[in-house]
Amino acid sequence: MQKTFSNYSPSTGKKICDIEITQNYEIESAIQKAKIGFKTWSTFTGLQRAKILNRAASIIRSRTHELAQIEVLDTGKPITEALEVDFPSAAESLEYFAGLAPSIHGDHVQLGKSFAYTRKEPIGICAGIGAWNYPFQIACWKAAPALAAGNAMIFKPSELTPLSANKLYEIFLEAGIPEGVFQVVQGGREVGEYLSLHNDIQKISLTGSYSTGKRVMQNAANNLKHVSLELGGKSPLIICDDFDIDKAAQIAINANFYNQGEICTNATRVFVHQKVKDKFTDYLLNKVSKLKVGDPYDKNTKLGALISKEHFNKVLGYIEKGKSEGARLIYGGKAPEWSPSESQFANGNFLLPTIFTDCHDDMTIVKDEIFGPVMSILSFQNENEVIERANNTAYGLACGILTNDLNRAHRVINQIQAGMCWINSYNLSPVEIPFGGFKASGFGKENGIAAIDNYTQLKTVYVELDN
Ligand code: NAD
Repeated sequence: MQKTFSNYSPSTGKKICDIEITQNYEIESAIQKAKIGFKTWSTFTGLQRAKILNRAASIIRSRTHELAQIEVLDTGKPITEALEVDFPSAAESLEYFAGLAPSIHGDHVQLGKSFAYTRKEPIGICAGIGAWNYPFQIACWKAAPALAAGNAMIFKPSELTPLSANKLYEIFLEAGIPEGVFQVVQGGREVGEYLSLHNDIQKISLTGSYSTGKRVMQNAANNLKHVSLELGGKSPLIICDDFDIDKAAQIAINANFYNQGEICTNATRVFVHQKVKDKFTDYLLNKVSKLKVGDPYDKNTKLGALISKEHFNKVLGYIEKGKSEGARLIYGGKAPEWSPSESQFANGNFLLPTIFTDCHDDMTIVKDEIFGPVMSILSFQNENEVIERANNTAYGLACGILTNDLNRAHRVINQIQAGMCWINSYNLSPVEIPFGGFKASGFGKENGIAAIDNYTQLKTVYVELDN
């Protein structure tokens, strides 16, 4: 097995460091440590676990600036986003599940003179496997409910963003978590496969692509592991003709270009009512031309660098496909031009926000998840038509509708096949609400009370009384 892999900065293309790949014998040793850690941790009271999780959250808050520097180096995302979203959301998930930890309990069922009760028990050793778009936040969204419920977790970050998970490991130890309860392993597909095949791991939670999701599920069948899958999407945003066009354009921009378009829930299929399509497009172009693309450490930057050269080329390939299939490119579609003072970014993976119009449902850019800053504008004429077209995808992660008619909003959303829906907003995912997809976007929920069910198993105890 390969011993190391190299980690590169998305914004400069320069090597950051080499990372040691966790070897199989080291994973075995991590599993042994997790078994010992689990024995202790699972007998802590909820309140004892909550105190440690809360301590970890406050360390994250006090070190947010330092952590954000690392995350920006590794991901290429704008620093304002890391400071305002990634780390606050990570800390909030720990605080939220710390709050729930003491209240994780079963029920009592009276059965005449006898009775039964249920216990929500931890599952055991859980593996978390992360994607590269929100590395630290994903690690916390998985670790917080898992640990609150009394499990141990072995987390593998994406090989493209290995840095911040190691920081989370240090933070948990500093907060007082028993050794072995949270551990990090490093590597790519092979390490992920080893975890998903392992008989001593009882649960696996993946954030990644559809194809990886299927593979993880096949491997997890080895010992019938519990599985949660947070996978890709090709989500619709439906803009009705009664909604404020200026607001609609802003929401569409946030729903496509935040985190330079590398967000699983992004609404890359923008369905605009035919009556307002031209006006919407004008407002959109006006706004998009003001978005600064470039230095991710600059507080004014709105789009940073894409994660890797390979991904950048894949997104460019989709743009070419869009053009060749007849979609009309009205903005972006290429890398920005750099001034001499910005020459360090010339090898970075920067792409201008890209907008196609005159799109059709059967075009590749409208069907495939691109996972970059590429918006497709489609027009529609009536409600039933747009519902059918919005659902005409293998994915079912998210959907948004913008309208002043709340009857219509609920009527439409009730017929949409997606796990995460927004009315008159988009991409807001506070930790209090369950998050997760339908169809090829996976199953199982992160966040909200529902996440506890994903990290516990229910034991029923029947108690016979003689009299
Ligand atoms: P990916 O599937 O290539 O990799 C995800 C993780 O799985 C990485 O850590 C990788 O090393 C690991 N992995 C790869 N092959 C594996 C295997 N056979 N067994 C076990 N682990 C394996 O995805 P990515 O490129 O890192 O992320 C982009 C994808 O993730 C997109 O499809 C995006 O929509 C999705 N995503 C979904 C959510 C969500 O919450 N639904 C959030 C972020 C990203």
